[in-house]
Amino acid sequence: MKKILLIATGGTIASSESEAGLLPTIDAKQILEYIPDIESICHLTGISIMSIDSTNMNPKRMVRIAEAINDNYKDYDGFVVTHGTDTMGYTAAALTYMLENVNKPVVLTGSQIAIEAMNTDAKKNLSDAIRFSCEELRGVFVAFDGKMISGTHAVKMKTRSMDSFKSINFPAVADIMLGKITVNSALNYGNHWEKLEDSNTNTFQIKTNLCENIFILKLFPGMKPSIFSFIKENYKGVIIESFGIGGIPSEEYDIVLEVSKLIEAGIAVVITTQCLYEGIDLNIYAVGKRLAKQEVIYAADMTTEALSMKLMWALGNYQNLKDVKQFIETPIFADRNY
Ligand code: ASP
Repeated sequence: MKKILLIATGGTIASSESEAGLLPTIDAKQILEYIPDIESICHLTGISIMSIDSTNMNPKRMVRIAEAINDNYKDYDGFVVTHGTDTMGYTAAALTYMLENVNKPVVLTGSQIAIEAMNTDAKKNLSDAIRFSCEELRGVFVAFDGKMISGTHAVKMKTRSMDSFKSINFPAVADIMLGKITVNSALNYGNHWEKLEDSNTNTFQIKTNLCENIFILKLFPGMKPSIFSFIKENYKGVIIESFGIGGIPSEEYDIVLEVSKLIEAGIAVVITTQCLYEGIDLNIYAVGKRLAKQEVIYAADMTTEALSMKLMWALGNYQNLKDVKQFIETPIFADRNY
């Protein structure tokens, strides 16, 4: 039987009603008591490393999750991390970059309704995540509402519904219905989740240097360029959520000029889009072409969740901006963009 470690961090899944509002209160062992039948498919151990609403997740806490996996790596075949849904997409992406050459499944899950409530989605999500963590697959995933999503493509789209997470710009890796996993056969099984027999010989290690000095700037018509001086003084990298396929104002409000000043000052400037689907291309419109002549970093079709964590990781691990650009623009797995 496979040995699986459940790492609890809090979230709605572990919450109860209190006078102050819904609050994470139960630990990993109590969570597992809600799904006793799962013991028939694997040996489960539960540890609680924090008990937070994931609104309060931050890079240092993400590092603690990576360290918990590292500390227990040799003793388990797979890992399930229970986590609040609000920032789960960010943590899943951060773990993807921090867990270098991870050779086992790491599956994040949570729920929209607390596990103690009658109509909860937690038991199904948790059982699905545990089943998936018993598969001979490697990488970081999010399990939610019967879907397994690659850890760098999971985005929370809805605040209340059970089908809250979507896989953006990449198909879901697998579906689970009534406990049966159907892996998406249309996928090219790159080294992300290929079968373990194909053996990954590179050694697993965690790389947890994350640079927190980054900023995400969403453009809007009429945004004053003055904010850029503040960014220049205070941050090492900025992600600009541009319009459409990569449009950045260049007339009365000349943001393109501000971008070039940032680049001259050695700030990493990443261009992404406010549109969730299909990514950027700066070579179509004149406004984009002016920008493309500068050393901006292209986000392709990455989600802002994945991009922000990839930028933190890149700035934490590389000194040189060329290396940061190359790392962000190169998919860490051969068959997709992240
Ligand atoms: N606010 C909660 C959290 O992210 C929401 C949830 O878990 O669904 O911790």
